Amino acid sequence: MDNLILIKYGELTTKKANRNTFIKLLANNVKNILKGEDFNIRFDRVRMYIECNNANVIVQKLKRVFGIHGIVICHKVNTNVEDIKAKVSELLKKETFKTFKINTKRADKSFEIKSMDFNNIIGGHVLRNFDVKVDVHNPEIIVTIEIRPEGTFIYTNEIKGIGGYPVGVQGKGMLMLSGGIDSPVAGYLSLKRGVDLECLYFESPPHTSIQAKNKVLKLASIINEYSGNIKVNIVPFTKLQEAIYKNVPDSYVITIMRRMMYRIAERLSLKHNCKVIINGESIGQVASQTLTSMSVINSVTNFPVIRPVACMDKIEIIDISKKIETYETSILPYEDCCTIFLPTHPVINPDINKCLLYEMSFNYEELIDECIENIETITNLKQEENTDLL
Ligand code: ATP
Ligand code: MG
Repeated sequence: MDNLILIKYGELTTKKANRNTFIKLLANNVKNILKGEDFNIRFDRVRMYIECNNANVIVQKLKRVFGIHGIVICHKVNTNVEDIKAKVSELLKKETFKTFKINTKRADKSFEIKSMDFNNIIGGHVLRNFDVKVDVHNPEIIVTIEIRPEGTFIYTNEIKGIGGYPVGVQGKGMLMLSGGIDSPVAGYLSLKRGVDLECLYFESPPHTSIQAKNKVLKLASIINEYSGNIKVNIVPFTKLQEAIYKNVPDSYVITIMRRMMYRIAERLSLKHNCKVIINGESIGQVASQTLTSMSVINSVTNFPVIRPVACMDKIEIIDISKKIETYETSILPYEDCCTIFLPTHPVINPDINKCLLYEMSFNYEELIDECIENIETITNLKQEENTDLL
């Protein structure tokens, strides 16, 4: 195999106590994402190395692996001056630059030329063959030459990795995934911090359509590109939602509905070993997301709830959703259970006592049990990727 890809862990290395666990998990995640490719992987406490033939394809996949901070494609040559010169010329011919620096690292001390002298030899070669200057302080290109016992590795630019922590290092969270813009972004941001996901989607057929469900599965499959383990639990919410509309005054239906969602999310989190509930709530965005609403809704559970986009402006959330390519799917027009029968004046400062009173008027516990018993779990999201939404 001709290419060697070097992976830098970045932030990982600061977590000294957990470093080994982190690195092993990262290696597993890398193996997972590269399934089907021809490669060898090895790692130490500082770096990971992947030998392969098709570096560009591999790098595209590695760019989605959280915990990777830098990626460099190294070119291996035999350790002799002429081969190294030839490879440096070949690499630099592909670049446009005016200033450069050679950075030799001599890990193989049996190589007789010292690093500084070798910088001068290769630097001189570049100056003779290209119309460029040396700039040791702020060069446009740094050519790194690592002389190792197994050969010499040469690379120019470092490709930025996606950063974050390896997915799964923090265990799992239960993402309340709707078809909107916010919750897929909340999911992505959680994955970035090492929290793997299980998803929960409330559907209310026939009030919500099959397209609405497919849209959520499509969104889940997009964020699953960063995990590979995501499952979606589809909760049949119709009966409970209809009971709410029958028994609760209009202005409180959304508040009560969201309290039910949290109750179900807690039950499911416990069942599936999730440590937190995650959702796409953003302060002030709608009536159910004022601070008073959020606290009245949240008071049904002691389970921790994380809201990764709580303090972001909509425009910031949209920017991320465009970057992770969920935006185009999120804006498809299918109705969610939160948007059907939307009351004209939803309460913005709900009263907890009123909530408790309204909830006493019907047997919601039984309906919640029924929701949980009839959940459909989708495990193979890849198959959903090409789902026709129309
Ligand atoms: P938008 O992105 O347009 O704001 P949204 O999906 O965020 O849409 P909201 O009504 O703001 O919709 O809901 C707030 C959060 O509640 C969502 O981000 C999501 O986490 C959760 N949620 C809402 N509806 C559902 C649903 N049908 N299934 C699962 N979670 C839901
Ligand atoms: Mg929202």
